[in-house]
Amino acid sequence: SAKMKNIVVTGGNKGIGYEICRQLVGRSSTRVILCARDRSRGEKAVESIKASTKFGDDSCIFSMILDLTDEKSIEDAHNLVKESWNPIDVLVNNAAMAFKGDAFNIGVVNTTFRTNYYGTMKVCETFLPLIRKNGRIVNVSSMGGAYALRKMSASNRSKFVADDLTLDQLNSYLKEFCLCVENGDWKEKGWPTTAYSMSKVGVTMFTRILSRENPELAINCCCPGAVRTDMSSQSGTKSPAEGAITPVHLAVGNLHDVSGKYWSDLKIQKWF
Ligand code: NDP
Repeated sequence: SAKMKNIVVTGGNKGIGYEICRQLVGRSSTRVILCARDRSRGEKAVESIKASTKFGDDSCIFSMILDLTDEKSIEDAHNLVKESWNPIDVLVNNAAMAFKGDAFNIGVVNTTFRTNYYGTMKVCETFLPLIRKNGRIVNVSSMGGAYALRKMSASNRSKFVADDLTLDQLNSYLKEFCLCVENGDWKEKGWPTTAYSMSKVGVTMFTRILSRENPELAINCCCPGAVRTDMSSQSGTKSPAEGAITPVHLAVGNLHDVSGKYWSDLKIQKWF
């Protein structure tokens, strides 16, 4: 029907993404496309949501393969959505990864950036043409991004938070960080010792740039809070269902036309 909302959620097979999908199908007239990089994990998640959730009127859920590190997979997912569920109302970029422990080197940085930053960016760019006018993008970032901004030198920080930051600049500052990690002088150059949090600086600031470039959309990012999932080794103060609340609000709640902001606990927050 005309009022049906199509919502694509990445990394929907477990953790916060799974709960985002679950809460969304509980609403009426909502079609959720639960993305997973592994087909059987995606299908199992859909079955488990069907078995445990009271669906809203006319709502439904499907699984789709989408691996942020595989351009072909992103392209295939784009084509399937274009054929079957075009246009979409909301894209929720929830998928991300983090290394366990405190290993820190250029390999860790490259692998983390590849999924969390470049992968999320690629999904946004590929799916943007499928998002209807007045549609939305929600990027699940992290308070890690705010932490990294606090920890870096004031001169590095001021570049990231500049109102007129461009995508080329953002990419070059993140490359500078990578180069310093490779050279072993990242501390002297005013960078923090964290791959994950620097990748989320990228996600947060990319959200702001994308919002500026697409004024007809509402494009926001958020921290879900400290949530008990596999990523956090089940530590944290919030359940996955609680962690899903702000992302779901940014996807379907009344935003009063706010775009390009970083949110947590249902409120707009400072960058750092
Ligand atoms: P989980 O590890 O539980 O889930 C991560 C999800 O992302 C999984 O579905 C995983 O799939 C998927 N994923 C990982 N890599 C890729 C990839 N290359 N392509 C596609 N999907 C991928 O983490 P959370 O639920 O905790 O995290 C969800 C989001 O919340 C992330 O963006 C995270 O950074 C953010 N966040 C989490 C916090 C927390 O305390 N948990 C705090 C702040 C932010 P698979 O099962 O196949 O690995």
